[in-house]
Amino acid sequence: MHELSIVMSIVDSARKQVAEHDATRVEYIGLEFGTLAGIEPEALEFAWEAAVPDTVLAGAERHIHYVQARAKCAGCGNEFDIQQLFEPCPLCGEYFSDLLQGQELKIKTMTLVRDDV
Ligand SMILES: [Zn+2]
Repeated sequence: MHELSIVMSIVDSARKQVAEHDATRVEYIGLEFGTLAGIEPEALEFAWEAAVPDTVLAGAERHIHYVQARAKCAGCGNEFDIQQLFEPCPLCGEYFSDLLQGQELKIKTMTLVRDDV
């Protein structure tokens, strides 16, 4: 499952950050996913439940920001929102466009805490 490998790489990055900053766990994590990154919210939720317990992310508050995919028309330069790749430009009908945003898959912010042991 696509989402599970994504969650596992998020857990991995979080673990590295925690180790690097001598913290013990993550209190808050902000994620940024493009609407064309292929993330299904339900599958992500399922993957999160499966992969996160017993990691530094257990109990962390999670916020997901979805970035609306946008493209720039190669014909007329118009910028427009797209729901899927290869949508024609609404102004001139051109099919070639550059994707400006929408495939993000990243950790935007993370708040680490150190519990007294
Ligand atoms: Zn156009």
